[in-house]
Amino acid sequence: MSGTSFLGVASPTGSWSSIWRCWTLSKVQHFLWQCCFHALPVRVALLACGCAVSPLCPCCGLQEESVVHLIFSCPHYFQVWKLSPLRFDFSALSFSSFQVGWRFLVHKAMVSSDFANVLSLISFCVWGIWKAQNRLVFEGVLWRPEVVVQKAVASFWEFHDARFLCSSVQPQLAGALVESWSPPPSGFVKCNFDAAFCRQSSQGGGAAVFRDL
Ligand SMILES: [Zn+2]
Repeated sequence: MSGTSFLGVASPTGSWSSIWRCWTLSKVQHFLWQCCFHALPVRVALLACGCAVSPLCPCCGLQEESVVHLIFSCPHYFQVWKLSPLRFDFSALSFSSFQVGWRFLVHKAMVSSDFANVLSLISFCVWGIWKAQNRLVFEGVLWRPEVVVQKAVASFWEFHDARFLCSSVQPQLAGALVESWSPPPSGFVKCNFDAAFCRQSSQGGGAAVFRDL
């Protein structure tokens, strides 16, 4: 899907790679792709499918709940972008679709000094807004914008740390796998052990295996 369109939907950045190459969770990448294809069950989509629901946004009740409204112009979630470390202010902007808004976000990341991490945080903010709206719809709990920001930033760092940890551990694992296990001499017990410590979380773990054959 490296062209400029897919199934008749124009790519938000000239290439879908901005989504698939984004440093984020696979489920968030899939979610962003759904946003571009209007494949999320927001109120306007449900109404178009014949569901008997009000088109109004369950959060603000002021405008129809479309993806672009939810992510970029809902007065409640609008604050998420301003309060986040990104400090984005969309007050003077109006996006005709999520694709147009996504293109704007990618551009904001590109002009930053850290494209990959900024786009990654953007993805977690979009995902965080969607999760917050679902929490409101299904559990009746409205997260304040500050809470949405906290959760989005926490998810970003959790992903960032896990990614860093994996990239630093995998080469060691690859080297370790080259050496195969061999049984101890008769009458002996062999103990294989290993341990790991995560500096970021101050957590560690260890394990040992005793075998005589
Ligand atoms: Zn709204």
